[in-house]
Amino acid sequence: MNIILLGPPGAGKGTQAKILVEDRGMVQLSTGDMLRAAKTSGTEMGNKVATVMDAGQLVTDEIVIGLIAEKLDDDAAGGFIFDGFPRTLAQADALGSLLNSKGASLDYVIEMQVDDEVLVSRITARSTCGSCGEGYNDLSKPIPANGACSKCGGTDFNRRADDNEDSLKTRLMAYYKDTSPLIGYYYAKGMLTSVDGLTEIAQVESSISKVLG
Ligand code: AMP
Repeated sequence: MNIILLGPPGAGKGTQAKILVEDRGMVQLSTGDMLRAAKTSGTEMGNKVATVMDAGQLVTDEIVIGLIAEKLDDDAAGGFIFDGFPRTLAQADALGSLLNSKGASLDYVIEMQVDDEVLVSRITARSTCGSCGEGYNDLSKPIPANGACSKCGGTDFNRRADDNEDSLKTRLMAYYKDTSPLIGYYYAKGMLTSVDGLTEIAQVESSISKVLG
C-alpha cells in the first residue's frame, strides 16, 4: 500500500509517518529529511538547497523528483509513505508516472487538516533528538524531565533552522499557493480522505488507521 500524507508544515505528517513505519512496516520517504541530510553532509546539492530551505521556499521539482525516483526501487513490502512530497502539481504528475512505470500505484492520499493558528505554536515548540531523530514538542510531547531522549538516552536536541516565524510564513504561503491545489487534484482522482489533524496524536493515528483499514 502506497500513501501520501498531505498537509501544511506542522500538521503532524512526520509524526504519523513514523507511527505507520513502526506499526505497519511501511517505508517513510520524506523529501525534507533527505534534503536536510544532504545539507548536513555538505553535498553539492545540499549546499545548493540550503539557503532556499532555510528561507522556507520550495526546492526545484527536478531535485525532489530525482530524490524520490532514486528511492522507489528500495525494498518496501509494507509500501511507501510519501511525506512532504508531492508539493506541486508537477511533482504529483511525476509521482504518478514513476509509480506507474514500476507497476505500482497510489492507494490513499490523506489530508491532515489543521488550523493555521496552531501551526506557529506547534512548529516553534518542536525539536528532535540529535542522536536518533526522535521528535519532541514542548506542548504535546516534551523532552523527559531528566533531559535524556526516551528512545536512545541522547542529550543533544536540535531545532530546525526553518522552524521560525519568518520561514513559517513563507512555508505556509508555498503550501497554499503550490501544494493545496493537490487536494482538488487527488479529490478528482477519488483518492482523497481528510482527517482532523488537530486532535491528540493517538486520535489522529486512529483516524488514519480507519482509512487504511
Ligand atoms: P519538510 O521537512 O517537509 O517541512 O521540508 C523542509 C523544506 O524542504 C521545505 O520547506 C522545502 O524547502 C524543502 N522541501 C521538502 N520537500 C519538498 C518538496 N517536495 N518540494 C520542494 N521543496 C521541498
